[in-house]
Amino acid sequence: MTARLIDGKAHAEALRARIATDVAALKASHGVVPGLAVVLVGEDPASQVYVRTKGHQTLDVGMASFEHKLAADTSEADLLALIARLNADPAVHGILVQLPLPGQLTPNTVILAIDPDKDVDGLHPVNAGRLAQAAPGDPLDFPVSCTPLGCLMLLQDTLPSLRGLDAIVIGRSVLVGKPVAQLLLREDCTVTMAHSRSRDLAALCRRADIVVAAVGRPGMVGGDWIKPGATVIDVGINRVALPDGKTRLVGDVDFAAALEVAGAITPVPGGVGPMTVACLLHNTVRAAWKRVGAK
Ligand code: NDP
Repeated sequence: MTARLIDGKAHAEALRARIATDVAALKASHGVVPGLAVVLVGEDPASQVYVRTKGHQTLDVGMASFEHKLAADTSEADLLALIARLNADPAVHGILVQLPLPGQLTPNTVILAIDPDKDVDGLHPVNAGRLAQAAPGDPLDFPVSCTPLGCLMLLQDTLPSLRGLDAIVIGRSVLVGKPVAQLLLREDCTVTMAHSRSRDLAALCRRADIVVAAVGRPGMVGGDWIKPGATVIDVGINRVALPDGKTRLVGDVDFAAALEVAGAITPVPGGVGPMTVACLLHNTVRAAWKRVGAK
């Protein structure tokens, strides 16, 4: 058996096309252009690439993009003052502060300062609480953390229904594992949350119809951990060295082995990654619609 590839790039492209239509409808009906403000502190090269990608994709779907590049030694007071201005700016519907932040800045303090309705990264405790309280059938009418939302969308596009399926989420971070588990619970999955202290992870995994791996350990999930026909979402992004001195990105799943057993699987790269930025745009246009009191 060879698993079906879940093409994250194609799914993200389709999502961006739907967002562009939604943006155009908002402009036509209310004269509102959704605006995303991205704040980058310092010059981390990876963060600069992410911010550039976000900026281009924001403009491509017809939204306004506001980039704020601050010096690496920016004080917390100055950053909080900028966030207060963005909170008050009617042209800004979404605010994203690119993480990680330089050491003098406390991520939790910064995230707490963002208006929860503009927190398009879905990291504010108010939005984490809204997700924790969302019952099956409740609308997700608040920003949900982008990578977990991307995982959910890929699963919904891959499987006819998630109801009653056994799911395992490996990893319990606030950024990925916990929100993924909560989203799947809301979809009526029976969810096992595994972590570094879980016993016999392989056996837990083999019971699951859905495996979401969000660990950060290259190839940890072996092919013999996968139940035949299961759907595998590999969130991990790990850079590994090759014998020729080059490097390449791999996920947390032994892709070649899992491909032989799973029913469907995301590749790394090209799986969950592209969905993350698309979901950021999704959250921004949703925030803009919410502001005008529609949809
Ligand atoms: P964290 O380091 O915050 O969390 C990792 C989790 O994995 C922890 O809960 C940890 O358990 C668990 N873990 C570690 N070792 C084991 C093990 N041997 N067995 C079982 N569980 C283990 O990472 P993130 O959640 O932020 O990210 C996870 C991965 O996803 C990374 O590779 C990251 O790069 C990638 N990522 C990808 C994104 C994308 O867009 N595709 C976005 C965000 C992240 P414990 O709690 O017990 O320590």
